Amino acid sequence: MTDNQNPQRSEVGPHTGPAQEEPGLLASVAGFGVTFATMFRKVVTDSYPEQRHPTAPRFHGRHQLNRHPDGLEKCVGCELCAWACPADAIFVQGADNDDTPIEEGGTGRFSPGERYGRVYQINYLRCIFCGLCIEACPTRALTMTSFYELADDNRADLIFTKEQLLAPLQEGMLPPPFPMVEGTTQKDYYEGAVTSATEAQRDYVEAYQAGAEAAAAPTDEHEEAR
Ligand code: SF4
Ligand code: SF4
Repeated sequence: MTDNQNPQRSEVGPHTGPAQEEPGLLASVAGFGVTFATMFRKVVTDSYPEQRHPTAPRFHGRHQLNRHPDGLEKCVGCELCAWACPADAIFVQGADNDDTPIEEGGTGRFSPGERYGRVYQINYLRCIFCGLCIEACPTRALTMTSFYELADDNRADLIFTKEQLLAPLQEGMLPPPFPMVEGTTQKDYYEGAVTSATEAQRDYVEAYQAGAEAAAAPTDEHEEAR
């Protein structure tokens, strides 16, 4: 309802509030107080990017998708982060983990859960670094780092993909896909029972990578055709 439609308001007229006082000389001088005080402060010049100050401990910078200690991904593709985002900056597409052997057509396991985040993107043209997504994440897969250099000269490069957001492999980790540590459940992973990749997982990844390289290598027929 507008003021004109409000019967009570229209009885007394639209300008019934107290008249605004003219600012006095004192108020005008006081208004310049901050300006004068700043003029006499010591000038601080940072030699950025050669010298960088550490950010505040709870600074919200670029996101990171975390891994378990054996290298499996913590993200289960639930999309809660995307639903929590007020800027619609996150795109997630989940998929099922598949323990069927690769040679029988299985697509492999990327996380200890039933699902994993197959596609994950954050659009830094939209993100306002509010942190609501990391609060919503049930597995602590998504956290924020102190990295803040997120400027670029084109829009496409500011849409970060899963590969860019995934935490790098640390010592004892392997690149997925590979099976969970034998005899463990998803709960064991979240309770910290898994501390690094096992020999069986290592053997699986070596065999998987050898198979992938063999599949990618050009065959004799292709070589002859060239
Ligand atoms: S920090 Fe905020 S705006 Fe950025 S992706 Fe997360 S929820 Fe969305
Ligand atoms: S980052 Fe967390 S909230 Fe987002 S899809 Fe993955 S598990 Fe779910």
